Amino acid sequence: MANDLREKDYVAVVQCHIVKERCSGYFCEKAFNERTGGFAAYPKDKAYRTLYLTCGGCCGRAVQRKLSHLARKIKQREDIGKDRIVVQLSSCITKDNFHAPPCPNLDYLKALIARLRLDVREDTAVSELAEKRRAESVYKAKGAACESD
Ligand code: SF4
Ligand code: SF4
Repeated sequence: MANDLREKDYVAVVQCHIVKERCSGYFCEKAFNERTGGFAAYPKDKAYRTLYLTCGGCCGRAVQRKLSHLARKIKQREDIGKDRIVVQLSSCITKDNFHAPPCPNLDYLKALIARLRLDVREDTAVSELAEKRRAESVYKAKGAACESD
């Protein structure tokens, strides 16, 4: 399936359920609005529908049910097919950070999404400081996947 972002109309951002117990997701939304971080490749002059949801908790299996529901309903109600949806995995799932390594079930999440035949991309909000520390392999000082801390 082509991952041409101009052909997409709907962005489903999947965030870590555990992290979302204390994070509003503001920096994910900000990154999308500004087309930065993992959203830098999205054209700025195109409007997208968006949905923010969590993986449902470890092991992430609820992602299959949630995204399946989305794909089914949006097809029924608005005739939007899977080829027009893109799933974006949040940085707290995909990136190493001060608090934890990437989600241990990252490959599993991607496999579930692939089975639904939905395109998937990685990263949302990306902190410049955290990127620098990742490059230097330094996570002894305070840093985060994004700027939420
Ligand atoms: S990437 Fe940052 S803002 Fe987005 S859900 Fe994770 S911790 Fe929150
Ligand atoms: S499966 Fe991964 S993304 Fe989901 S709650 Fe567990 S650690 Fe977070």
